[in-house]
Formats: sequence, C-alpha cells, structure tokens
Amino acid sequence: MIDLHEVSVRQVRGIGAQKAEELGSLGIRSASDLLEYFPFRYEDYHVRDLTEAKEGEKITIQGTIYSEPVMQRFGRGKARLSCKVVSDKFFITAVWFNRPYMKEQLKPGLEIVLTGKWEGKRQQMTVSTSEFVGKENSRVGTLQPIYSVAGEVTQYGLRRMIAQALAQYGEMIQEVLPHELMAKYDLMPRKRAVALIHNPADVSEGNKARRRMVYEELFLFQIKLQAYRAMNKSRADGIAHTVDSEAVRGFVRALPFQLTDSQKKVVAEILEDLRKPFCMNRLLQGDVGAGKTVVAAISLYAVVKAGSQGALMVPTEILAEQHKRSLERLFEPYGIQVGLLTGSLTERKRRELLASLQMGLIDILVGTHALIQEDVFFRKLGLVVTDEQHRFGVNQRSILRRKGMTPDVLTMTATPIPRTLAITAFGDMDVSTLRELPKGRKPIKTYAVKHDMLERVLGFIDREAKAGRQAYVICPLIEESEKLDVQNAIDVHAQLTHHFPSLRVGLLHGRMSAAEKEEIMTAFGANELQVLVSTTVIEVGVDVPNATLMVVYDADRFGLSQLHQLRGRVGRGEHQSFCVLLADPKTEVGKERMRAMVETNDGFEIARRDLELRGPGDFFGTKQSGVPEFRVADMMADFETLELARDDAAELVARSEFWTSIEYLPLRQYLQREQVLTGELLD
Ligand code: ADP
Ligand code: MG
Repeated sequence: MIDLHEVSVRQVRGIGAQKAEELGSLGIRSASDLLEYFPFRYEDYHVRDLTEAKEGEKITIQGTIYSEPVMQRFGRGKARLSCKVVSDKFFITAVWFNRPYMKEQLKPGLEIVLTGKWEGKRQQMTVSTSEFVGKENSRVGTLQPIYSVAGEVTQYGLRRMIAQALAQYGEMIQEVLPHELMAKYDLMPRKRAVALIHNPADVSEGNKARRRMVYEELFLFQIKLQAYRAMNKSRADGIAHTVDSEAVRGFVRALPFQLTDSQKKVVAEILEDLRKPFCMNRLLQGDVGAGKTVVAAISLYAVVKAGSQGALMVPTEILAEQHKRSLERLFEPYGIQVGLLTGSLTERKRRELLASLQMGLIDILVGTHALIQEDVFFRKLGLVVTDEQHRFGVNQRSILRRKGMTPDVLTMTATPIPRTLAITAFGDMDVSTLRELPKGRKPIKTYAVKHDMLERVLGFIDREAKAGRQAYVICPLIEESEKLDVQNAIDVHAQLTHHFPSLRVGLLHGRMSAAEKEEIMTAFGANELQVLVSTTVIEVGVDVPNATLMVVYDADRFGLSQLHQLRGRVGRGEHQSFCVLLADPKTEVGKERMRAMVETNDGFEIARRDLELRGPGDFFGTKQSGVPEFRVADMMADFETLELARDDAAELVARSEFWTSIEYLPLRQYLQREQVLTGELLD
C-alpha cells in the first residue's frame, strides 16, 4: 500500500516544480494534502426557473438568444455586452462585462445556459459565467467546489489538479476509521467521501461526504488527545509522592475557614493523583472567588511535606507578589520557604535565589513564566501549579523533562470554559471543578448605567468608603488617546483625587515599575488607599476582601468574561458587594452584553453568552489557548459530533486491541505521524 502522505504532489501528472512550489504556499505538499484540500463551499449550477429567483440572487437558467448582441465601450478598455434572452415566459436582458470576444459567439436562436445575478426589477441578469447547451465537460447541473486559493493558484487550476490527483490516486485512499464506528453513524468510506466532497452531484450528497469528514477530523483530533492521556498515565515516569494524610489534615484544620464540599472533593482528587507514579495533568476550573488558591496551597503543602519542591506560575507580577505573600503567611508556621522569581529582580538577587533553589533551600517558587526558563534548576521539582490562563503545554513539559524533571501539573483557570472549548482545548486533561462558592457569600449586585449617571456613582463610592469599605475604578486605557474617546486611568485618577479630598485615591497601571505596583497593591490591601483607579492589570486573581465596589468605565469596551473577572475582584468577603458598569452601548449586541452581566453572576452562563456573541475565535483572545483550527468541522455547529467523537476515542484507546490489532493500524500510523507516540504532542 502506498502512503499518500509520502507521495509528493510532483508525482501528480501536470504538476511540475513551479506548480508544486505554488501549492506549497497553500500548505499542500503531498498527494494526500492535495486530495484533502477541501472546498469551503459550492456554487450551484443546477438550472432553475426564474419564477423562483429572489432579487439579487445568483442563479443558473437556460434560455434562447433572441437579439443580436450590443456592445458599449467605456472607460479604459471596459466593455458592456448585452442581448435579449427568452427563458420560459421571461424576456430578459443578459449583460456581460469585459468579455468583448463573446460578441461573435452570441447568435440569435442559440440555446444558452447563464449563471449570474438576477435583478428582477430590471428583468436583467449580470452574467458571471455562460455556456452553450451541449458543451463538453459542462458544469451545468453540477455543484462546483469553491476552494480557498491565493497567489498564483487559481480555482480552475486547483480543480484540475485535484481531479488529476483523484484519477491517479483516488483508488488508493485508505480508510482510517474503524468499521464499527462507520457502521454506528452510517458514514461513507473515506475513498468515496474524498471524491464526493470535491464533486458532489447535489447538496445532500455533499453534506453526506462532509458529515463523514467532520466526524473523521474530530475523531482523529480526539484520538490524539486521548492516546496522549492514556500514554501519560501508563508511562509511570512521574513522582509517586508519599503524601502524609495526617499532616495535610492538620494543615487544613489550621486554615481560618472550613473548606467547602467542592474544595474537599477536589483536594482528594489531586492528592490521589499525586500519590500515583504518572505525571498528573489536571485542570482545576472554578468560578471567580471559588477558592482555588487554597486548593493549590494544600497541594503544594502535600508535595513539600513529601520531600519535593513546588512552583506556582501566574500571569502577572502583581499576582506573583500577592500569592507569595499569602503563601508565606500560610506556610510560615511549618518552616516552608517561599521564593519569588520575577523579571524585575536584580542580577545578583536572581543568582542567589536560583542557587538556593537548586540547593533545595527554597521549597516553593512563585513567579511569572520566567519560572521554567532554561537557567532555572530545582533540586527536585514535584508540582507545578499554574494559576489563571496559562496553559502549561507539552512544550513546557518537555523543557522540564530535558532538565530531568517530571513534575505533576495542576492548571487552574477561572475562565469558565464552556464545554465545547473545554473538550477541545483541554481534552487531554483530567478535570476537577469547584462547583460552589464559599458559604455566606452574597451575590454581587450589578448595575449597568449610562455615563451621565457618574455623579451618583461617585456618591456611591463615597458611601462605601465612609462605611470602611474600598472601591476599584477600572479604565480601559492608561493615557488619553485622540482616536479613542474613552476615559483613561491617569485622568480619572486626577479627577477623583480632586473630587474626594478626604479619601486616598491610588493609581495602578501596566507602565509602572514592579516596585511601584507592589507598593500600591500593598497599600490598597492594607486599606491605606480607599479607592484604586486602575487599568485591567488587576483583572485576574487580585484578592482584597474588604473591597466591595467595582466601577468600570466604558464597560462596553471589555469582553464579557473579562468583565466577569473584574467583577470577581469584589464579593470576596462577608460584605455585600456591588459592580457598576458605565456604558452607553450603541448596538443591540452591546445592550445584550450589559444585560447578561446584570442578569447573572454565574461565570459559566456568562461564558456561554460570550461565546455566543463573539464566536470561539475571539473567546480566549490568545493563540496559546490550545483551541485548534479545524479544516472541515465547525466547533460550534458540530459540537454534538465532537462530544460523540470524544467518547468514541476515549473508549477505543482504553481497549488493549487498539494498540495491537491490525484494524487500528491506520490510526496508530496517524498517531505516529502526529508524534503522539513519541510523546511530543503539539501544543
Ligand atoms: P479564586 O478561585 O478566584 O482564585 P481565591 O482562591 O482567591 O479565589 O479565594 C477567594 C477568597 O475566598 C479568598 O479571600 C479566600 O481566602 C477565600 N476562601 C477560599 N476558600 C474559602 C472557604 N472555604 N471559606 C471561606 N473563604 C474562602
Ligand atoms: Mg485565583
């Protein structure tokens, strides 16, 4: 059997060096790439009746030429050719632009098929393609595939090359799906699907072929994740921590609060993983304020007690400082040393820190992504926790592996990920979820108001401050921008300082040095500042329980999940908290977004609406999210298929025949090609 992935497109008749290079720019290198370069839509050349044509619709009709063509020339070599055509009972004007050579061919009495845009009011068709009845290789009565092309590659050229590839290699296309799954969903064979998706006889045939390829794409994607997950668990090259349950219980008892049932359950899941010899790869999701940090602290404590070191990786320096302080407070009674590694350490401090880390004098290192840089060596790294939005990818794992470290990994996220995305982006992970907030939390009251209500909002800030509470005021930008008519932190800080002579108003933004930021956050944490004007640098993780009011200027400029994160900065203590969104949304979607925020405090519900309003591409806003781009499948529309494919893949991978039987050889070869079997899954 020839593997079409190994056959260069140069082997396809008619494709030389030049064409091969052009195809290369579309990512097409092998015969299989070419065969699997699927159209993204079809143009319908089935002849229809004008009575059913909608205004402005593109339609194909048949008719008889009635009058001699008339040519008008205008502009630089531009030409308009028109003639009368009778189609059914319609007497229409057909117009061709810039095809003067057609004049000789259009003879009254000839039967012609026209495809073009119908303008009913003028009884006119602007023709995009036409052909005389009886032409060889007629496209009439077919669906023509439309491919995404660029550069030198044309639709027509690509169609011909694909047709040639199908003629040469179509019969050699190998099945990859197991028979039982094809039977289960009544999917057509791969060979047939690939041929039909390029040349379906009609829409329903095209859909059937597409359905097969969608399932295949999602299934292959899932088999990759599930195989990776299964292999990770069987590899047993991680650390089997000897967790001291008694000590952990003591640590939990000493906390200033009782764990919620959710927290207890999640801690148990993590401790169980820590004891096992494989590398834990667990996602901990929980809404803002659900109490993920303490779960991380307990896990780190367990690992340190068992003789390893831990690392906590966070997205911002502010958060690193905060976590360092709170972990220090928790761990001090146990003599556990916490270090802080950020980009702003002096060279000498950094060297000292890294030396103590390597000697094992530091038990837990907190920092930004600098944590896993090449020159950071632990004595024995047992657990990496990443907090908020970092996907600790396989790349990062392999950096550590190369340094001889195989830590367990716990990824925490407060971006409540809708199931669709969770399955795709985190399908290779085990998932723990904090389903409840700590008891006694009062739901945050949210108001969306127009900017002209500012006076009253300021009165609100004043009242909260007089009651001993604190407020955040968030602005979208740091400085004034001529282009964007938005409030900026520096201006707002000046205004509020002036407006509240008896309050202390602080300012925080991303252009400040790490030391300045830390100073401000410490002061706010100690209630030395009653109001903190800030950009979104405090978006995630910041924890000041005495803050009860969150005011967001230009709230319509933020994403919903971002607003939910910002709102999550309040409502962290016993006092009733409030969130005021200042916005003058102009569009319906804008109003709908504000409504969503007011109506629900549930992060999952907000994420769902956000995804609906924005689509998956924008949802994470970052490339590192791990959400793949599918070629045929549409993550939203094909979600049910995605779930089925996930279950099918997980079940198959769990069967021992999967790794041995000839029936699954094509799937194993696929895993080999994707380098899953060597452990280097793509990020
Ligand atoms: P997040 O999940 O958003 O990271 P945090 O871990 O910052 O949430 O916790 C939010 C606040 O709730 C913190 O002040 C934390 O000390 C507190 N907290 C966590 N767990 C509990 C609990 N079981 N009971 C009461 N308060 C808790
Ligand atoms: Mg947190």
